[in-house]
Amino acid sequence: MTTELPTPSTQRPVPGKLTFSAPRRGKPPAHLADLDMGQRRAWVTELGDKAFRADQVSRHYFERLVTDPAEMTDLPKADREQLVSTLLPPLLTPVRELSTDDGATVKQVHRLHDGAMVESVLMRYTGRVTMCISSQAGCGMNCPFCATGQAGLTRNLSTAEIVEQVVAAARFLRHGDLAGGDEGAGTTQDALRVSNVVFMGMGEALANYRSAVNAIRRLVDPSPDGLGMSARGITMSTVGLVPAIDKLAAEGIPVTLALSLHAPDDELRDELVPINTRWKVDEALDAARRYFDTTGRRVSIEYALIRDINDHGWRADLLGEKLNARGRGWVHVNPIPLNPTPGSKWTASRRGVEQNFVERLRAHGIPTTVRDTRGSEIDGACGQLAATTA
Ligand code: SF4
Repeated sequence: MTTELPTPSTQRPVPGKLTFSAPRRGKPPAHLADLDMGQRRAWVTELGDKAFRADQVSRHYFERLVTDPAEMTDLPKADREQLVSTLLPPLLTPVRELSTDDGATVKQVHRLHDGAMVESVLMRYTGRVTMCISSQAGCGMNCPFCATGQAGLTRNLSTAEIVEQVVAAARFLRHGDLAGGDEGAGTTQDALRVSNVVFMGMGEALANYRSAVNAIRRLVDPSPDGLGMSARGITMSTVGLVPAIDKLAAEGIPVTLALSLHAPDDELRDELVPINTRWKVDEALDAARRYFDTTGRRVSIEYALIRDINDHGWRADLLGEKLNARGRGWVHVNPIPLNPTPGSKWTASRRGVEQNFVERLRAHGIPTTVRDTRGSEIDGACGQLAATTA
């Protein structure tokens, strides 16, 4: 499908420049998923309706996954349209859908109310369905190997814009549109649910802290307040915004933390992950360890293996030493073969080099699993989500 798209509004950031505040743009419309149940009831009362209507509409949205007033027959016919169009304004317009792995991986491109674009990816594995969502349109963290970072930050997403990506995917699954639902996905119920959500699409979620944390609450709150997912199925990814990691640990929601480290030494990490010029490797690792201490959740260290840049055996040793210096059993490492982006000089490590890196880490006693790069054919893997219009 081809669609007319507005010209992107951001410029390429200069190397190393970090952008924390998004350019001012019109706010997305307020939506029921921005609010907790108490706030929704207050809103509905302000609109002149009975407070319990908030519960009814929430149930339609989070449980039945419907937004069409005609299907909400328990609401009075006279003000149904008005109430629903106020509480559930459309936030995401589907632009494109690309699938690979025989339909078991699907990338969805959405346009937001102001023309900004975001992407999410849905992947079916044996026994679970994982979804990778975006927390910002673009990203201000400017990692030079990442397509999203090179496009700059367009804006932060609202809580509801983040939640809507998961609700849209849940609807997609319920309609049986993701292949592989018949085999290996456990019960039929499992086959039709999003079991895992990872904040690894576009954006640095902790730079959009309030919206991201509220979105997590909507995902884990039981229906009709939210989608009723398990917090253990949710992974918050960050390049290492140390104060925000500590704040997240104190929220009392035991999501998994994934720290995108990509280098164990400051000299290289300053270049590969520019946030390192603010918070150094040791500070980020200390925060990751504190996260484990507070939540009891084992932390993931993400390490994109980039040919001849960060894939040296001595760097695997240094990483192993730094992790062990902070104790045992609190962390595991996910090396990820880099997904090359068009026109980029950065590319994936050679197979043997990757294997050596993994073995060196394991020799230090660090649990290490090479992460699958599902979706790389459709630019749906990490570091590739740039919401291109081609
Ligand atoms: S790797 Fe992550 S944090 Fe870095 S620029 Fe890309 S999306 Fe942003």
